[in-house]
Amino acid sequence: EAEKEISFFFPPEDTLAVIKPDTQHKEEILEEIQAQGFTISQLKDTILSREMAEEFYKEHREKPFFSQLVDYMCRGPCTMLVLTKENAVQEWRAAMGPTDPDQARLTAPESLRARFAKDVLENAVHGSSNTEHADQKIKFIFGDIGEIIPDTASPPLETEES
Ligand code: GDP
Repeated sequence: EAEKEISFFFPPEDTLAVIKPDTQHKEEILEEIQAQGFTISQLKDTILSREMAEEFYKEHREKPFFSQLVDYMCRGPCTMLVLTKENAVQEWRAAMGPTDPDQARLTAPESLRARFAKDVLENAVHGSSNTEHADQKIKFIFGDIGEIIPDTASPPLETEES
């Protein structure tokens, strides 16, 4: 017997994810992204200039680790991604786990940082911390790409009632 299928549509959200330089685990990270149901709406590999890395992490300008962080981010190619999913910002943060892999291995052993980060600086992945930052950093990295409409998340078309 056919079961009645009820589907709800929640508007998808975008976040900026970065696979940071020197990650030997890019393929595994991309697999995990797909396994967790994120749509990859944009992807590019790019080497950030010092200037771009400083701008990207400008919120951390006053931190003691700022210059180390900038060195790390422009040391090699980054994979830049726009990930789209319902609640993408929060879900990608959860997928990454805590900043420090020692803590990640204790509290979120399945997370990407628990699995792939080297230390608190070289922690494999970045993700926007809120939707405002996500929009701002997506524009900064990809330019103004307009509204992102992932084809897997489209609601069924509805006919107008007469
Ligand atoms: P995130 O949002 O989890 O990436 O963490 P933050 O926004 O606080 O920090 C940005 C990035 O700076 C982190 O992902 C690390 O690469 C680096 N970082 C953060 N905290 C430290 C620290 O205490 N020491 C060092 N060396 N790097 C850090």
